[in-house]
Amino acid sequence: MPAPAPIRAPRPIKVIDTDWIDSTAKACTDFFQYANGAWIRDDTIPAAYSSSGVMRDMSDANELVVRAVLDDAAAARASRPRDSTEWKLGTFYASCMDSTAIEAAGIAPIRPWLAEIDRITTRSQLLSEIAALQVRGLNVAFHFGPDVDNHDTEHYIASFFQGGLGLPDRDYYTTAGASSDSTRQAYVAHLTRLFALAGEQRPRAAHDAAEVMALETEMAKASMTRVAMRDPAATDHPMTTHALDTLASQVRWPRYFRSVGLTHPVDKVNVGVPDFLRRVSQLIATAPLAQWKAYLRAHLISESASWLSTPFVNERFTFSSRFSGAKQLLPRWKRCLRETDGDLGEALGQAYVARTFPPEAKARAKAVIEDVRAAFRERLQHLAWMSDTTRAQALDKLDHISEKVGYPDHWRDYTKLVVKNGPFVQNVARANAFEWQRTINRPGQPVDKTEWGMTVPTVNAYYDPTKNEVVFPAGALMPQTFDPKADDGANYGSLGGSWAGHEITHGFDDAGRHYDAAGNLRDWWQPADSVHFSQQAELVVRQYDGYIQVDTFHVNGKLTEGENIADFGGLLIGYDALERALQRDGRPGLIEGYTPEQRYFLAFAQSFRVHERPEQLRTRVTVDEHSPDIWRVNGPVSNSPAFAQAFGCKAGDPMVRTRDSVPQIW
Ligand SMILES: [Zn+2]
Repeated sequence: MPAPAPIRAPRPIKVIDTDWIDSTAKACTDFFQYANGAWIRDDTIPAAYSSSGVMRDMSDANELVVRAVLDDAAAARASRPRDSTEWKLGTFYASCMDSTAIEAAGIAPIRPWLAEIDRITTRSQLLSEIAALQVRGLNVAFHFGPDVDNHDTEHYIASFFQGGLGLPDRDYYTTAGASSDSTRQAYVAHLTRLFALAGEQRPRAAHDAAEVMALETEMAKASMTRVAMRDPAATDHPMTTHALDTLASQVRWPRYFRSVGLTHPVDKVNVGVPDFLRRVSQLIATAPLAQWKAYLRAHLISESASWLSTPFVNERFTFSSRFSGAKQLLPRWKRCLRETDGDLGEALGQAYVARTFPPEAKARAKAVIEDVRAAFRERLQHLAWMSDTTRAQALDKLDHISEKVGYPDHWRDYTKLVVKNGPFVQNVARANAFEWQRTINRPGQPVDKTEWGMTVPTVNAYYDPTKNEVVFPAGALMPQTFDPKADDGANYGSLGGSWAGHEITHGFDDAGRHYDAAGNLRDWWQPADSVHFSQQAELVVRQYDGYIQVDTFHVNGKLTEGENIADFGGLLIGYDALERALQRDGRPGLIEGYTPEQRYFLAFAQSFRVHERPEQLRTRVTVDEHSPDIWRVNGPVSNSPAFAQAFGCKAGDPMVRTRDSVPQIW
């Protein structure tokens, strides 16, 4: 056992930290290394993590605040009215932290659900059980739920999507080769051990695990690849429920709809992946019931394992570390905190904001985001390749992007959520059922535009094409992303370029550009502009296809296309926004030896200050639409003339790509 690391106060995080710069590296040769190299050299990824860097630092800082909120809520339970939201929050978290009760209970908390599965003897009972498990949050058979209607974004539509796999992607089931074979064998061995832990005799456990693998392989073969799904039209198949009955005729859908809690009839649905739903419906009708029961047990046990006793937790962790590379479990409080945030995020978000996010921070962050929007507007107005007809629509879309910054205006009402003192795994199922019931009857109803898709402490942001909105939770508006006291070069490089510019560009990437100002999936492009966009986007694909991700694996340029376009657009737009701010507010002199423009690119590069384990990089080749962070920096900056100018880079330097290979998009 290595000696435990000495406890020291965390170093305050800055938007730009010049101590992270590797002064032996050359900015024009490898800017990622230049900006982050000294930090990477000195940093060790902690055993419980798959990567280290910005996200971990910011999450660690946020989690200390969230922990204080949860500890207070747990301690105050006795003095709070039972079933008040704060009581529920404290009780939920405390039931997760109660390791004594969890160890003593073993698998008992999920026994009633295992017994439900055992009792299935007919196909209609199978369908009801699939519905019951979905309501409790389990990923079985397929995904179903309300979604914004692609063709009427004022209303929700009932929506089906592929799902139900235990491995992280369909490709793990279908790809040939030794590495995939070994993952599949490891998965079957993992399921065998989970069945054995749940009390099955070894020969039967191994048999059941093989049956699960066989069923999931059939589902995987009918699943769409992530690359194919990037085209919004590929997953846009609105149809009447009558057409659904024809497409997936083996399932009695009205019965299913009633089982999941729909109280009014649905007349139309979107079927994201028709081939998949057709195949699953065939399997529901024809695969042996014993095979389905093994499959449902496998998902119930594996998706509950993290909240059961240690043997289950360890088995689940060991298998997942194959994909993450983590060497150790996170401490229980972190695992419990993250689950509580995921399930009751808006109950703790309010207290989190009160402790960390003053109104001045929100106002300054909004000002940066508005500058970025204005800079994008100016770029759109002057793009040489775009026709005025398309341009007018693009400007309209940009002007209609709504933004959410910090935290919701209305907090979710948790009155109907049931929380008990334990067992925790049942509280998780209740929270999932609460969320399901809160939303399941939305089809046909007006869209709630005030709703947030991320919780407040989350260190992330998103663009939602059907709502045409950008969302920046308070958790992401802290150092290192943003500091109201930092200089413009720093804030515009990080919050402006890496975050706001990036998210706004998503509205105009290879997928986002197919949605209009109101979020409807509608082609508003003149054909010649579409052709230009696709040709230039192809240059982005080729650029990233050329980068090594890990070992001999290349980045998948097609899978990462939208993120790479957003990274590049973000860098360009954030830079313009900085220039606007400098003209308006005046130029400072050198700060820590750097011009505002140099600090802009440094902040951009340091906002991707991350290094990660090879296991995670390998998994990301298949599942992640983001390129590795080194290319999220070196890819865009080597396309940017302003970068070359700021650091005096010359033609022929690795960070200066030739003019004809640089994509001309935004
Ligand atoms: Zn993105």
